Amino acid sequence: MTKRIYMDHAATTPLHPEVLAAMMPYLTELYGNPSSIHSFGRETRQAVDTARDTIAENLGAVDASEIIFTGSGSESDNFAIKGTALALKEKGNHIITSAIEHHAVLDTCKWLEKQGFRVTYLPVDAYGLVDPARAAKAITNETILMSVHYANNEIGTIEPIEELGEIARAKGILFHTDAVQAIGSLPLRLKDMPVDMVSFSAHKFYGPKGIGGLYLRNGTRPIQLIHGGAQERNRRAGTENVAGIVGMAEALKLALNGMEDRNIRIAELRDRLIQGVFNQIDHVRLNGHPARRLPGNSSFCFQYIEGESLLLNLDLQGIAGSSGSACTSGSLEPSHVLLALGLSHEIAHGSLRLTLGSATTSEEIDHILAVLPGIVAKLRDMSPLFNVKGVGEAVCTAKK
Ligand SMILES: *Cc1c(COP(=O)(O)O)cnc(C)c1O
Repeated sequence: MTKRIYMDHAATTPLHPEVLAAMMPYLTELYGNPSSIHSFGRETRQAVDTARDTIAENLGAVDASEIIFTGSGSESDNFAIKGTALALKEKGNHIITSAIEHHAVLDTCKWLEKQGFRVTYLPVDAYGLVDPARAAKAITNETILMSVHYANNEIGTIEPIEELGEIARAKGILFHTDAVQAIGSLPLRLKDMPVDMVSFSAHKFYGPKGIGGLYLRNGTRPIQLIHGGAQERNRRAGTENVAGIVGMAEALKLALNGMEDRNIRIAELRDRLIQGVFNQIDHVRLNGHPARRLPGNSSFCFQYIEGESLLLNLDLQGIAGSSGSACTSGSLEPSHVLLALGLSHEIAHGSLRLTLGSATTSEEIDHILAVLPGIVAKLRDMSPLFNVKGVGEAVCTAKK
């Protein structure tokens, strides 16, 4: 079998070998419970404290107590949004978010709607950008929280977080950002930013799965969701995932070290991939913003074919990508993100996301560019939409 090519770094990243090395002692001989007062416990307590310091420092927090460990990026989003909504429900019942958030945010907001909260889902432009003026207009006397992701996981668009945060702050509204895609790829100085809560997740930056974090600016107190022990200063119960916490701190350090050079290299490869696709394949569009985008993200829609078939064919060639459409889950609904850009269902169904990472090579990009055009041509040959002349137009007009 030929060597496989991993182009799905937005879904998860491989564990960095140095991260594994940092974790190993805490998976073997250092097994004490950090809450225990004996020496076994003190060793792991020390490791958790050091990791928290490292993360706070690398994210530019003021104080280590502003970092809370959770079980995932999803949990961090739930904690920030549900916790704030429930903590401030006497103050107001309105939340503002965007239409293209990760499901960890969207489904949390939908659940809150069932509990009596009102949610505004801000539309985005054709590039996936939230308009700050629109966000400002959506604010009412009842608004308690604005939550807009830092960068989108499907199309890579980077949102105007600073402007949105300023708008929220000026009105005394808490601002949360899901930075799961951004942390490790974009520089962050939390103390200088108008943000109150920030979600992150280690497995998106070459750390282990099942460990996330939430930055809570001093004084921000969402109500506790996980009750039990007094861990995380009574904000999240449960014995600490010591190895995961140590791994996340190490992964963050490594990600920020040399980030700029790495980003330049990855973005160059990505741009060559995008250019190559456009040079060789017709009826294709790039999703997301041309400039304001994550260095590793490329997202396409190929007209007249199904993203799912494209993925399966690429997988047979050892190339691992992802599609925004959800046909495999039994629903014919394409990605909410692509639809929010204003794309028709037909176009959105032909989506393919290829996300590069720190180990992506030039040879891998060459190989993808050698294989992809043939697969697209083959699938289009089999497509009734592509073969009947003029039907492409008919499909578009019939939809209106
Ligand atoms: C991956 C991801 C999440 C969820 O993080 P998990 O740790 O996998 O739960 C949330 N938001 C965004 C933008 C993501 O990319």
